Amino acid sequence: MKVFQPLKPSIVLGIAAHPDDLEFSIAGSIAKWTSQGAKAYYLILTDGSKGTEDRSAKPEDLTRVRRQEQRDAGKIIGLSDVFFEDFEDGTLENSLAVKKAICRIIRKVKPDTVLCMDPTFIYSAERGMINHTDHRAGAMATIDAVYPLARDHLSFPELLIDEKLEPHKVNTLLMTNFENHNYGEDVTDFVDIKLKALAAHASQIPDIVGRSDMLRGWMSNMGSKYGVKYAEAFVRLDMSL
Ligand SMILES: [Zn+2]
Repeated sequence: MKVFQPLKPSIVLGIAAHPDDLEFSIAGSIAKWTSQGAKAYYLILTDGSKGTEDRSAKPEDLTRVRRQEQRDAGKIIGLSDVFFEDFEDGTLENSLAVKKAICRIIRKVKPDTVLCMDPTFIYSAERGMINHTDHRAGAMATIDAVYPLARDHLSFPELLIDEKLEPHKVNTLLMTNFENHNYGEDVTDFVDIKLKALAAHASQIPDIVGRSDMLRGWMSNMGSKYGVKYAEAFVRLDMSL
């Protein structure tokens, strides 16, 4: 297995389909890095309008509530800002429009490190789950935006010409994959703050105690591979091109 130096990012961008996705996956690392002085941002691609079993809930109300929950969670882990796109929950595609929206934010905040889900994670027989279609599409669009689209000035030329957004090269891509990973970030001291941020998503997580226990179990499993108590684990790609 490739041996990596510890990460010390300065500007970090986490990209996901829904409010709450990143609290499950990366919030411990984000809290750690912001405590060390990094600037961190989230980009949420969909409006989150479908995440309810309440048949009386209005989609627009859900969008409003979930965005506020995401902002509240962001405050807990020290985010500098959260960007929201309006792509419809449940129908996200790896489209040019989505890639362009991601490119715009990458060029705006100029992250050295981008985090997203691993788009090759389609299902887990082990966990008995299918990875949500929006997660896969958003992650695929993200890696396409990181390379080559955000980097090349002739890709989406209007971003440079009309919006004066210079191309940007991302150094490191971290893709969340709970089962197959090559890098673990030690988040032992940041588990409590991660779970506090997760609890901000009250509309999505009625059983926060159960979910917290589940996450502790996952982070403990991931940590055991890297010799720490709790880790968030990723496929890490340090880009040389
Ligand atoms: Zn999600």
